[in-house]
Amino acid sequence: MIVTEIEIIDAIKKDEFTFFYQPKVSLITGRVVGAEALIRWIKPDGSIVLPGVFIPVAEQSSLITEITRHMFPKLVNDLMVLQDVDTLSVSFNTSAKDFENDAFTKTVLDSLETFGVAPERLQVELVETAALEAGDSLKQHILPLRQAGLGLVMDDFGTGYSSLDTLSKWPFTSIKLDQGIISRMLDSDKNMTIVETSTRMAHELGISVIAEGVENSDQYHRLLESGCTKIQGFWISKALPLDRYISFVKADNRWSGLPVGLIHMASLDHVQWRRKLVSELIKAVSYPKNSPYRKYLKVPPLSCHECRLGQWYYKEGQLFRDRKVFHDLEQPHCQFHNVGELLVKLVGDGATMEDITTPMRTLSELSMEVMANLQILENEGLSDMHAAHYKWTFNELHFNKGEFPVE
Ligand code: C2E
Ligand code: MG
Ligand code: MG
Repeated sequence: MIVTEIEIIDAIKKDEFTFFYQPKVSLITGRVVGAEALIRWIKPDGSIVLPGVFIPVAEQSSLITEITRHMFPKLVNDLMVLQDVDTLSVSFNTSAKDFENDAFTKTVLDSLETFGVAPERLQVELVETAALEAGDSLKQHILPLRQAGLGLVMDDFGTGYSSLDTLSKWPFTSIKLDQGIISRMLDSDKNMTIVETSTRMAHELGISVIAEGVENSDQYHRLLESGCTKIQGFWISKALPLDRYISFVKADNRWSGLPVGLIHMASLDHVQWRRKLVSELIKAVSYPKNSPYRKYLKVPPLSCHECRLGQWYYKEGQLFRDRKVFHDLEQPHCQFHNVGELLVKLVGDGATMEDITTPMRTLSELSMEVMANLQILENEGLSDMHAAHYKWTFNELHFNKGEFPVE
């Protein structure tokens, strides 16, 4: 199907565009956490034109900014309706052209204020290539949205040329793994490695990860295992008209939400924490006893509640609190941090390598105990996850199985 710019302009005039909402599910809670707004052109005869047909045409001219300007009030209106049902977040797609000047940014900020919508409920999606090719003006016009508290999602992550470079230069709060990567991830170990390493890297950078295009339970469970925290895809639901999305949210469906992948992330965080501390301590003992540098070590958070393993333990990790090994983890972990704190003090007070040998050994022993408990917990989690997966696959417990809502 081919459409012309004239037809698009006509459709804007006749108000034939609307948003459908594709639910996103948290792999931590197993519940719907929001949706992506996806534009649909509904013709007078009821037929639907997908964005793949007209967005590329609109992108070639300034028509895309017309569409965005026309659609944003609709999005705010839908958010107001959704507010009565839930306060879940919504992401919407933008084009680099929308940020060539500050008009759209102003519209967004003004509308949110006028209608009292919390900025945290909105995320701006921008494809990686747009960020990559953009000049400084795009960043300059998108930054105020980020500063106001809106999320910024790098859409189609993995399809551009230099994702890492773009990520380091932009204040993205999420990456969205491209559906091509997801569809191929079970085909080869290499593809799976791309998903896993992207997820780990995002975790390290403090950025959340969402996978799009999840079409079956095998993909879902592998993503759960890899530490990905949100997904969307036909296996959950296609994009739905607002009223059907509301019914979907109200149904309060649950998906398996045992985030085993996060245990693995916690183990990696712990290893990193220990490495950073030990490296800093060993560097510092080489300084003269009274060197001021010894007092200003670049150490990671010393409290066992503030390190990343601790943050996981006292938050998402609590989902595992019915397990003995989860509780066995707390004491060695806090002792480990106490020894870390002692070491920092000793080095600050002028200790030599010899002086810190014994507490360093204790630190390693406690770390091994922490790791052993995390591994047992991960094994138990994996075993439960696969048992549940098996049950779902063969007992057809999943309410949505094979039943994709029709657009
Ligand atoms: P996107 O932002 O990457 O959106 C995801 C696309 O993948 C959507 O197609 C969605 O329906 C589809 N999808 C979701 N789950 C699955 C799955 O499990 N399997 C498969 N095969 N596909 C899945 P859609 O709605 O046709 O949108 C296509 C693209 O059009 C979007 O890609 C986005 O780049 C653009 N787009 C959509 N709405 C807007 C909009 O309001 N403004 C702008 N500028 N672009 C939009
Ligand atoms: Mg998108
Ligand atoms: Mg995408």
